[in-house]
Amino acid sequence: SGFPLSTQVTLPNGIKYDQPTGLFINNEFIPSVSGKTLKVENPATEEILTEVYEADADDVNIAVDAAEAAFKTWSVMQPSERGRALYRLADLIERDLEILSSIECADNGKAIALARGDVALVAKVIRYYAGYADKVTGTVIETNDGHFTYTRREPIGVCGQIIPWNFPLLMWSWKIGPALATGNTVVLKTAESTPLSALYASKLAVEAGIPPGVINIISGYGATGAAISNHMKIKKVAFTGSTNTGRAILKSAAESNLKKATLELGGKSPNIVFADADIPKAIEMTNLGIFFNSGEVCCAGSRIYVQDSIYDKFLQQLKERTEANKVGNPFDPETFQGPQTSKTQLDKILHYVDVGKQDGATLVTGGYRLERPGWFVAPTVFANVKEDMKVVKEEIFGPVVTVSKFSSVDEVIELANNSEYGLAAGIHTTDVHKAIDVSNRLNAGTIWINTYNNFHEAVPFGGYGQSGIGREMGEQALENYTQHKAVRIKIEKK
Ligand code: NAD
Repeated sequence: SGFPLSTQVTLPNGIKYDQPTGLFINNEFIPSVSGKTLKVENPATEEILTEVYEADADDVNIAVDAAEAAFKTWSVMQPSERGRALYRLADLIERDLEILSSIECADNGKAIALARGDVALVAKVIRYYAGYADKVTGTVIETNDGHFTYTRREPIGVCGQIIPWNFPLLMWSWKIGPALATGNTVVLKTAESTPLSALYASKLAVEAGIPPGVINIISGYGATGAAISNHMKIKKVAFTGSTNTGRAILKSAAESNLKKATLELGGKSPNIVFADADIPKAIEMTNLGIFFNSGEVCCAGSRIYVQDSIYDKFLQQLKERTEANKVGNPFDPETFQGPQTSKTQLDKILHYVDVGKQDGATLVTGGYRLERPGWFVAPTVFANVKEDMKVVKEEIFGPVVTVSKFSSVDEVIELANNSEYGLAAGIHTTDVHKAIDVSNRLNAGTIWINTYNNFHEAVPFGGYGQSGIGREMGEQALENYTQHKAVRIKIEKK
C-alpha cells in the first residue's frame, strides 16, 4: 500500500506533530513487506488517530538481520560510549515529555497527569541504565590451584522484546534500558493497540546517536510476537502481558532454540487494611491501588481485605472515595481515570461485572459503561464476595475491586496467599512489627507498606508464582541481559 511513512497527527489537546508510521529498522522507517497497515484508535473518542505499518514474520527476519549485524559493533563498543548515547536519549525524552505524554494519552487513553508520570519515569529508567553501561564487570576468583580464574559478563545477542498496551513507553524503557546498556541489540514488538509512542521515541534514538540496527521497533499482532519467540537467531525473549500468552512464549522459546526467557505476567494482588491503619491514607492508597491507570495494571490491588472491626466504616468511605474519582476526558488535567484501552477490554470487564452479580456479590458502586463515546467504565466495588468467586480469583484488568473481611493476621495471610499469582501486595498498618511480619509471610515480588503502585527505577519488579519469571528494573534486570563466562588460565611454576 502507499500509506505514507509519516503522518501529521493533531492530538485532542491541539498538539500537532509528525508521527512515524513505518517499521523502525536500521534507524529508518520502512513499509512492511506485505504493505499491510493497522488502524490506531483513540479509545476516548473511538476515532482513528492514524495507521501504522503492520509487521509479520518476514519483517521480523529483516529486523533480526539488522540487529545481528549491529550486535557485532555495539557489543564491543566502549561501554561508556553506550552509556553516553543512552544519557542523550534520556535527555531527549525529557525534552519531548509533553508530546510523548500526549501521545500516550491519546493512544492508550490514560489520564494526562498519569501519562506525564509514566514518561518522567521512562527518562529515569533510561538514565539509570545508562549509568550501569560501564559498571557491569566480571570478577577474579582466587582458586589457589595453579590457575588464574576470572569471569566476564557478556551480552547475549539479539533480544526479542514483546510489550503490552497498558504502559506503552514505560514497558519500552524497562526492556531496552538494561538490554542496550549491557551491549545487546533488540527487536521490540509493541502492542497492536498502542504502537505510537515507541515509534516517536525511535526518532529520538536516532537523534541520540544510537547506531543503526541497535533498536528495531515493529508494530503488529500476536502472531508477529510468536515469530519473535520462535526465531532461531533471537537469543533471548522478554515479555510483559497476560499469563496465557507468557506460557505460549515460554513454550515456543523452548521448542525453537531454548532462548532465555523472562516473563512479567498477570496478578490478583491483595491489599490489606488493618484496623490500626491510618484510615484516610489507607482509603487513598486502596483507591489508587485499583483505579490507577483505569485498573489496567498488572499489580493492581484488586482484592482488598479489611479487618472486621473497621469493615463497615471503611467500605462506606471507599464507596464515597470511588464515586469522587474524576472519570472522563483523559486530556483534562483533573481527570484521574480515562477510558479502557479498547472495546475488547471494555467488554471483558463488563462481562466480569455480570459474572460477579450472578455469583451473588453485592455491587456497592459502579458496574456500568458510561453513556458517551469511548470505552469508559464506572469504577466498580464489589462486597460480600466469596473467595472462590471468579471476581476474586481471576484478573479482570479493569477498574473493578472486591472487598472482603478478615479477623486475624493468620487468616488474612492465608486469604492473601490463596492465589496462583504473586506479583504484589499492599499492607496498611501503623504497627511496624505487623508490617514487617506480614510482608515476610506474603508470597509476592513487591510489598507496598502504606503505599501502592509505587515504582522506582532502582527497585526490582517481578512476580512469584504464575506472575512471572525474572525481575525488571534495578540491578537485577542486568542479569537478564548478560551471561557469565568463566576463564581459567593454567599457571606454570617458573
Ligand atoms: P497479551 O498478553 O495477549 O498481549 C501482550 C503482547 O503480547 C502484545 O504485544 C501482543 O501482540 C503479544 N502477543 C499476543 N499473543 C502472542 C503470542 N502468541 N506470542 C507472542 N506474542 C503475543 O494481552 P492482551 O490480549 O492485549 O490482553 C489480555 C489480557 O492480558 C488483559 O486483559 C490482561 O489481563 C492481561 N495483560 C496483562 C498485562 C501486564 O502488564 N501484566 C498487560 C496487558 C495485558
